[in-house]
Amino acid sequence: MAKKQFEAESKRLLEMMINSIYTQKEIFLRELISNASDATDKLYYKALSDDSLVFDKDHYFIKVTPNKEARTLTISDTGIGMSAEELESNLGVIAKSGSLAFKKANEAKDGHDIIGQFGVGFYSAFMVADKVTVISRALGAEQAYKWESEGADGYAIAPAEKETVGTDITLTIKESTEDDSYEEFLEEYRLRAIIKKYSDFIKYPIKMEVSSQRPKEGSEDEFEEVREEQTINSMVPIWKKNKSELTDEDYTNFYQEKRYGFDKPLKHLHISADGAIVYNAILFIPENTPFDYYSKEYEKGLELYSSGVLIMEKCADLLPDYFSFVKGMVDSEDLSLNISREMLQHDRQLKLIAKNIKNKIKSQLQSLLKDERESYDKFYQSFGRQLKYGVYSDYGRDKDVLIDLLLFHSSKADKLVTLDEYVSRMPEEQKYIYYATGESKERIARLPQTELVADKGYEILYFTEDIDEFAIKMLMNYKEKEFRSVSSSDLGIDSEDKDKEAEDKAEDNQELFAYMKEQLAGKVKDVKASKRLRTHPVCFSSEGEVSIEMEKILGAMPT
Ligand code: ADP
Ligand code: MG
Repeated sequence: MAKKQFEAESKRLLEMMINSIYTQKEIFLRELISNASDATDKLYYKALSDDSLVFDKDHYFIKVTPNKEARTLTISDTGIGMSAEELESNLGVIAKSGSLAFKKANEAKDGHDIIGQFGVGFYSAFMVADKVTVISRALGAEQAYKWESEGADGYAIAPAEKETVGTDITLTIKESTEDDSYEEFLEEYRLRAIIKKYSDFIKYPIKMEVSSQRPKEGSEDEFEEVREEQTINSMVPIWKKNKSELTDEDYTNFYQEKRYGFDKPLKHLHISADGAIVYNAILFIPENTPFDYYSKEYEKGLELYSSGVLIMEKCADLLPDYFSFVKGMVDSEDLSLNISREMLQHDRQLKLIAKNIKNKIKSQLQSLLKDERESYDKFYQSFGRQLKYGVYSDYGRDKDVLIDLLLFHSSKADKLVTLDEYVSRMPEEQKYIYYATGESKERIARLPQTELVADKGYEILYFTEDIDEFAIKMLMNYKEKEFRSVSSSDLGIDSEDKDKEAEDKAEDNQELFAYMKEQLAGKVKDVKASKRLRTHPVCFSSEGEVSIEMEKILGAMPT
């Protein structure tokens, strides 16, 4: 076999790629399986335009075969195969993608989507292999060819034997060193896990011979180990199935299989977007708050697939922080991936998808609030605080998305109320939306500051969480009604007789107030006669925007 040399730049590129593009070695299997799937898709496409070819999906498969003794791992496919020329140009020229060329030549688009485009994935095999041997027989050819390479120093092509059309790629797995172990790539359980993780939704069966326990014949409690071929991948992604064929249970199973959470989903959302950007998504609102949710350890994000192949486990850019509780996956063919297919090249499409998803989640929550209030209350208990943070963050950039999703305790209802409910109950002459802050509903109800407003028969929102008042300050108003703390000096409630009474009292007790102020110097700014008290002798109040409660929180913050 005559050895041919890679060109100098290619040689460097190969080394560079092997050592730097991919962050995880296990990716090589994803790449080789994706190529096998592409090769089978090409057969399918050929059959579309060639009547002499019949494509029966059941005849095609990908097989993964580890051999520990020989230290080899073989990935076989029944795809279109490669001629000697194709072996040369596709595997001998780095960054040349036969698949991309094929895709361009066959513009047909009907769900069979070719994955390859960069012409480098194949070489990722050298991350784990000292030697790669490809034996391939092209569709319509009698003669098969072998391509072999030990990496950067070149490759050789020679005639070979192969009975069926397709390609076998055999990797001679590297010996483990002190720093790097490669043994896992010969272990059935690891290979199975890697296939499940990245290639679960490849549409052809990925088979592997595995050991399993079977009851011994004629015995009930004795088992024997048998070798049998199993299909490892689920093949049809649930998100490509018709919504009407899927039950709640299917979605719950998917949620649990994917380990999105240990609970059950409270609600699922199945999106098939076909507009400016094409994508499928299955999203879940979990039932319970994950134990680490309100901590720094919690990582938001959705799984991101491109044409059914996992690209990123937690794509954070797909979710705003205030919807960080949402779990699930997004699959799109429209993403511009970078060469390692681990990160995204440009994020225009991603931004579009993220925006779309944000709106879908919002309307899902809105209809939950409208139609299934009990479920919404449950959701709000788990994640309401996050929504309120959302109103407050980014200087209230997305407050409009969230305002109608907020719930608060109230003086007039046992359950939490929306701002809309509050406003719709307001008597005409009521100027403001009143709120009071405190540790609990019960304590707030006893606050002297609430007396005047409550006496008027006006509803008061009870803020029991630190974030409540900050969020409301960001909102400023709702349906043109301003928010007003019951501690505010101007409550917008007319009480002329009270005004007169207060003035008289202030007059009469000038000396007492002066004395009190002196005694409390540095602790209070002023001592005044109040117009709002009914049964209580005294209360605190504040002037200006920052309430006493906010002052407390701000004062406790580390500076
Ligand atoms: P990409 O898949 O991005 O095109 P690869 O480096 O993974 O790049 O593969 C290079 C090319 O080699 C592919 O485009 C394809 O033409 C060819 N190829 C690789 N593996 C196979 C295979 N199993 N069967 C047929 N052709 C293959
Ligand atoms: Mg590829």
